Amino acid sequence: MSTKKEIWVYAEQENGKLAGVVFELLSEGRKLAEKSGYTLCALLASADGKPMHQELFNYGAQKVYNVEDPKLDIYQNDYVAKVVDTLLKSEEPEIVLYGATTIGRSLAPTVAVMGWAGLTADCTELDFDTERNILLQTRPAFGGNIMATIICPDHRPQMSTVRSNVFKKEKVGESETGEVIDLSVDLSGVRERMKRVESVVEQVNTVDLKAADFIVSGGRGIGDPKNFDIIESLANTLGGAVGASRATVDAGWISHHHQVGQTGKTVCPLIYVACGISGAIQHLAGMQSADLIIAINKDPDAPIFDVADFGLVGDLHQVVPELNKQITAL
Ligand code: FAD
Repeated sequence: MSTKKEIWVYAEQENGKLAGVVFELLSEGRKLAEKSGYTLCALLASADGKPMHQELFNYGAQKVYNVEDPKLDIYQNDYVAKVVDTLLKSEEPEIVLYGATTIGRSLAPTVAVMGWAGLTADCTELDFDTERNILLQTRPAFGGNIMATIICPDHRPQMSTVRSNVFKKEKVGESETGEVIDLSVDLSGVRERMKRVESVVEQVNTVDLKAADFIVSGGRGIGDPKNFDIIESLANTLGGAVGASRATVDAGWISHHHQVGQTGKTVCPLIYVACGISGAIQHLAGMQSADLIIAINKDPDAPIFDVADFGLVGDLHQVVPELNKQITAL
């Protein structure tokens, strides 16, 4: 296999605005590039890519493969898949990463089928094995009961979709430079199987967990739905959002908008406070990349303490209001 020693990040964008996950993938891609010695590249398909190049360089892209066409003005799976498939066949990169967003989850499988490539969906961890020169793609498997590390030994490119918020955005600088490779792809023969008729921005009434810097989450240990009041009160003091374990959502104590974890939201706040949450693997999958984790649990052997930076062993009904009081007094 004579492929280019390149890692590509699909630079998902809408109306000229790059998706947040692109910066996360570039930041993680830099680590993979350092380890493998590969070049980190972005693939940008849009109607006008130039205004986005600087941001891609600032997050570590060394090259931008830039395809512009008026047909790429708004996302249409058939057009973008044609662009990506054409470039993968002509440039032959080793690795391609997509965000596991609505767009990425549609685009990556389409491209995989077009190129007979493998795809590991919904990864939560990536690494590079320098002995075998292979990408290690980790994701929850068997209903989330194990974390499986998947490799693609024979086929190239190795392709993954990666969940948002599992990697941190780390800028390299403000005026980084790199190479722009302008390419064109003939889209005239592409059959438009879907047409976007209208775009409606979802109105979310709840606090945006994904954007919150501080999250206080309640688990079954709160004992009663009305005890979400003390969780909410601490969250308000911190100016943050309320999260929840699936046990509380399944019990109907709080709406699913608040659920953190494998089948809920993946969050990456500055501080995550887990109150009365045991620390099941499916919950950890959604919050373990928080900068700082504080766990409050009456069981000193609760698995949440294995990932916590600070652990408070005690009854949350006493600890949380006391913590709130102390923070308010600061
Ligand atoms: P429990 O596991 O019951 O833990 C309650 C904790 O509270 C215990 O550790 C206990 O010691 C502590 N406690 C009790 N009373 C007090 C007190 N007064 N003070 C302090 N501590 C106290 N779960 C998720 O959260 N998110 C997901 O997205 C998710 N997805 C899943 C997907 C699949 C396919 C499957 C199979 C499961 C999934 N789960 C998910 C469920 C997960 O396995 C756990 O069942 C769930 O996270 C447990 O929630 P919990 O920690 O609130 O409850």
